[in-house]
Formats: sequence, C-alpha cells, structure tokens
Amino acid sequence: MLRKFIHRVFKRGEHKPLHLPGKADATVLPVAQHGIHREQVSSGARRTCETLQQGGFKAYIVGGAVRDLIAGIHPKDYDVATNATPDQVRNLFRRSRIIGRRFQIVHVMQGGETLEVSTFRGAHTEETLKDEHGRVLRDNVWGSMSDDAARRDFTVNALYYDPSAETVHDYHHGVADLKQKVLRMIGEPKARYREDPVRMLRAVRLSAKLNLELDPAVREPIRAMASLIENVPPARLFDEMLKLLFSGHAVECVKRLRDDGLHHGVLPLLDVILEQPMGEKFVMLALESTDQRVREGKAVSPSYLFATLLWHEVLANWEARKTRGEVAIPALYEAMDEVLDLQAEKLAITRRIAGDIKEIWALQPRFEKRAGKTPYRLLELPRFRAGYDFLCLRAQSGEIDDDIAQWWERFQEADGPAREALLVPDSGPRKRRRRRRSNSKSDGGSGGNGGGNDRQDAHGSTDKEEPASTPGDAPGGE
Ligand code: ATP
Ligand code: MG
Repeated sequence: MLRKFIHRVFKRGEHKPLHLPGKADATVLPVAQHGIHREQVSSGARRTCETLQQGGFKAYIVGGAVRDLIAGIHPKDYDVATNATPDQVRNLFRRSRIIGRRFQIVHVMQGGETLEVSTFRGAHTEETLKDEHGRVLRDNVWGSMSDDAARRDFTVNALYYDPSAETVHDYHHGVADLKQKVLRMIGEPKARYREDPVRMLRAVRLSAKLNLELDPAVREPIRAMASLIENVPPARLFDEMLKLLFSGHAVECVKRLRDDGLHHGVLPLLDVILEQPMGEKFVMLALESTDQRVREGKAVSPSYLFATLLWHEVLANWEARKTRGEVAIPALYEAMDEVLDLQAEKLAITRRIAGDIKEIWALQPRFEKRAGKTPYRLLELPRFRAGYDFLCLRAQSGEIDDDIAQWWERFQEADGPAREALLVPDSGPRKRRRRRRSNSKSDGGSGGNGGGNDRQDAHGSTDKEEPASTPGDAPGGE
C-alpha cells in the first residue's frame, strides 16, 4: 500500500492538470507592497515557520490569515503550508499530532495556539476521483508550491507569507485583487464549482467578510449551479454554514445568499422563513445579535442560532397540527421532530445540537405558566438562559406580547417574597383570557413591530399539559 502511495505521489508530474491555469511563477512581493510586518503575525505561526525552515524545508503562512492581514483584519487562526511531509513535520515538533485520514495534516501546538500545517497539495489530474457531477471525492496527492497555489479557490487565498523574509509569494495576483476589492476565482469558476460546490458558499461568505465584489465570472454561474450544493455531504455543509453564520457578517451573508439564489440549497426552509414577514424579522434580529456577539468576542451557540432559524417553521407546523385537532404539547414535539428531520437531510445537525434546539423550543410554552412551582423549576434548568433569550427575541420581533418577557425579567431579578408576589394565581383559562386582552394593546416598546400577531393566544390558550421535563437528554451547556 505504501508503495502504491509513493508511486502515486511521484507519478503525479506525469499527468497534465485539467482546467487549472498552468503552473504560474510567483511574484515575490516586499513589505512595501503587502504591508505585513512579521510582528503582526502570531508568535506560534512565526515559530512554526522558523522551525520548519531551520529543518531545511519551505514554510509559509498561507490562505485566510495572509489575506486578512493585508485587508487589515485580525486573523482568527493561522495555516502553514510546507514541502515537509506530515511525518517530517511531526518529527520537528514535540507537541504535534497528525490528523485526517485522506489528506493528513499536522496540528502543531505552540503555547495556546494550534497551527494547522499541511503539505503542499498537488493539482487535480485526469486520475482525480470525482462523483457523477464532477465533485472531487479524493484529494490526497502532494505537489509543488505552485500546484498548491493553483488548487486554492480564490486568488486572494493563494498568498504565501514568509515571516523570515517578510515577503508574500503571490501566484495569481491576489494582492492586486484584494486591493481592488474583487473576489476572483483561480481557474474557470464553473469547473471549480463543479469540483467543489461549497466554493459558492465560500464566495458569498468571503465577499461579505472582506467587503469584496464578486467578479462577474464568479457570480454569474451561481444561480444555475446552486443545486449542486445538494450533493455535498451534510456534515461538510453544516460546518460551512456554521462558518458563515458565525463569521460576524451573518446578516450580510444571508442577504447575499438570497440575492444569489443560494439559500434554497443550504437550509431548505430558509427561503420559506424569509418569505414570512414575522419569520424574517425574527431571523434577522437573531443574526444581528449573533454578529454583534461574534464581533465582541463573546461566545455563540450553534443550537441557539439554529433554534431561531427554524422556529417559524416549527410554529407553522405546530399551528397546522393544532388546527387538525392534535393536542398542543404532543403536537409541538411532533412539529419539532418533523422540522429537524427535514433539515437533517441537508445539514448534519448533530444529535447533541438537535437535543439542545428542542430544549429551547420546548421551554417556550412553559414560559406561559407564571403560577405555582413551574417558574421556579424553569429557573433551575440549564437551558433556562437560552430559552429566556429566545423568548425575548420572540417578543422583540413582535411574535408575542412583550409582557411575558418583562415578567420573566422581573421574576429573575426579584427574590424571596417579591418573587412570590409576582406569581399569577393559577386560575387556568381565565388568566389566559386576561392576557389575550392585553395582547392587543401592547407594543412592547423594545423593538416589537406592533404586528398584532395572535400566535401567542394560539399556543397559550391550549397549553394545558405541561411537559414533565424538557425533551432531549442532551446535556446542557453551550
Ligand atoms: P476564514 O478562515 O476566514 O474562514 P479561509 O479562507 O481561511 O477563511 P479556511 O476554511 O480556513 O478558510 O481555508 C483555508 C484556506 O484553504 C483558504 O484560504 C483557501 O486557500 C483554501 N481552501 C479552503 N477551502 C477551499 C476550497 N473549498 N477549495 C479550494 N481551496 C480552499
Ligand atoms: Mg482560515
């Protein structure tokens, strides 16, 4: 097997690359042209390159970090590309481990940083294994630095920074494109989308993040080719969606996804959600607050965000079930499962995340209960905070009366007798009728759009059976 592998690596040069631009020579740019001083680079990335270079290998910081530094953005992590094989890298760093099966890369730990070190990859050839749509299935051949550059997606991502020399090796005029604010594909965009449809999502995400115009050749084929995203394995799509939603530019990304007709392939229901005025407001509020949290460096939770993205689907499904005469709470659980199952076909929402999402949803009707022991019990739940934030977002979007969110805020702040005094007498349906009246006059004042939605009545008034516990046994904690 080893012999076969070595044979494949060394045979590589015998195959002509298919559509990729021929092997380009890099333009080597000095600091004056790219502006990156080595002190701007993390010490871990610098040390990793130095150690590899001292070991006799080439080593460069590559990809997003170089692009971001030139664009004046603080890189979130660093990738290193080298001509050393994974074993050779492993031998140079005590704190390192080889990961990945098909194409091995090495994680090198430097202080608190983890650097991803990959061996230059080879260009695709006639032998590259693809599916029937042209998507590359196996991609595990090493190559030269220029091969490696040609395989990258956009010109701005094929930049190699040498911290020792403070030079940038630019194979495809990425620095010029970055300065002109254009996102340009390396090679022929249609062929590159066929090889990997995720590049369409990356185009949207990177253009939003860096405020770049899509080159017309990058943009034009997207609408027609968007359906290729359906062939992407769900786990990969899920990762890519997380990157997009947690990029700090989610609002802009979603707008661009919609403009380019890409939202259909990604979250099958995102288009439906965005077509419902209430749903759109809710989703946009959630994305705005996520963007803000990301930009402030605060923690963000995938479960919470997916719960918001899919909530109005759950509501619509739940409503339909109740109209058909199903009992409220079991109907809610059925609706949650149906919505999540549909998404799971496209996005591999992990079981743990699905469990957390359901907990957040299942808490919502429980917030209606403001009598007896229920509110105390809810406060103790690990998902209370997420559920409460979700409730506030519903109020803010105008879906429900702001009274409930305000009541829960007061209830959390109060203690002892003051807390007890807030409890509503447990008078069953009468209490709910009172709330229904206040519903029509309230506009919340905290961003509610005054849309006069009567959905709250729809859940509140039928909320007879309180679930014994929140669904999903997934552990709490984000
Ligand atoms: P960011 O880190 O800001 O999310 P990035 O461009 O660094 O963006 P990564 O997923 O970290 O994205 O990828 C690192 C590099 O690997 C990219 O800059 C690009 O050169 C290359 N790359 C990533 N995905 C692809 C792809 N689908 N096709 C070709 N090259 C890719
Ligand atoms: Mg990156």
